[in-house]
Amino acid sequence: MSNYLSIESALIHGGAFEDSLVHSVNVPIYQTSTYQQFEIEGNPKWEYSRTGNPTRAALEALIAELEGGTAGFAFGSGMAALTAVLSLFQSGDKVLISSNVYGGTYRVLDKVFKQFGLACAIADTSDLAALEAAIDPSVRAILVESPANPLLTITDLASVAEIARKHGALSIVDNTFMTPYLQRPLELGADIVVHSATKYLGGHSDLIAGLVAVKGAELAQRIGFIQNATGGVLGPFDAFLLIRGIKTLAVRMDRHVENAERIAQWLQTNGAVRRLYYPGLPNAQGHDIQRRQAKNGGAMISFELREGYDVRKFFRSVQLVALAESLGGVESLVCHPASMTHASIPKHIRDSVGITDSLIRLSVGIEDSDDLICDLERAIAVSREG
Ligand SMILES: *Cc1c(COP(=O)(O)O)cnc(C)c1O
Repeated sequence: MSNYLSIESALIHGGAFEDSLVHSVNVPIYQTSTYQQFEIEGNPKWEYSRTGNPTRAALEALIAELEGGTAGFAFGSGMAALTAVLSLFQSGDKVLISSNVYGGTYRVLDKVFKQFGLACAIADTSDLAALEAAIDPSVRAILVESPANPLLTITDLASVAEIARKHGALSIVDNTFMTPYLQRPLELGADIVVHSATKYLGGHSDLIAGLVAVKGAELAQRIGFIQNATGGVLGPFDAFLLIRGIKTLAVRMDRHVENAERIAQWLQTNGAVRRLYYPGLPNAQGHDIQRRQAKNGGAMISFELREGYDVRKFFRSVQLVALAESLGGVESLVCHPASMTHASIPKHIRDSVGITDSLIRLSVGIEDSDDLICDLERAIAVSREG
């Protein structure tokens, strides 16, 4: 099926699930923990829902198809998905991460995996020479986000995959900000793709979920083993919701991006804005790489207001746009990375990579773009001091 379906159709029909019992159009919610067996040593397809569940399996086949992977895996959160992937490594290994990955990714490495002897080092993966220089023989993986959270830094994913392969390391991409509709890292040479499906894939801010897609039978077997052994699986109802969300990904994403492009252009000409980060703008860092490896610049924008504007007042004044953690839902959200998503990163590191106290991150929703601009314009005006 995947060989001749375009992504728009695969979002709706991919992962082929056939209901031979009642021929339902949608994948049913198999809300069951276990399955009756008819003989011992019968080696049944379904035995226990941590190991396998038909609703979750349909979702796993879908993400594998969308990302062009050998196999897919669904977890109870993006962090559970990342934890399963990081469980591939052992004491003495080192994981290199981009300098502004999701705060929780840094935290789980620094506070949890470090206790087990898995080292982690930060490298500016947007600078390939700096990345190469950071590699030593203990590096077993390079984990990148592109665009990276929250400065939308672009990393050349094909080059990182090549560098990783040259050094015998795995290349892992957190594709949450792009989704397979805009960017497919496995096709660019990566070994593993991770998603917080809580964001665009779910798309409606109503569930927490994580997905993994891998290339090759060996990785598929190893992640499958870890998923069953450690057990951070996604429940059948959330798997159903996620399949439902993914069906509309293409239409939602098109509207998200159309709105984001318009808002980025408006912010660019706004005198109150000191710095603007949006990979869809021609003058943005990595714009040419982004054009090559992704469909467009996505729908996340970060910006800083000039001196004389009080960010606290800005966050208090937005009305249509909600102040909240998370991103990728149909509703627009703003957040303050320094005190929210990236608070677990020490301030000196935050400042050194540009996640300043005046940085605002905007997840552009699919509302009317005039309404969004009107809300932002008013909040910026109110935040002006004096
Ligand atoms: C939200 C997020 C995560 C963590 O996912 P959860 O579903 O919240 O556990 C990981 N990576 C990125 C880029 C994210 O935005």
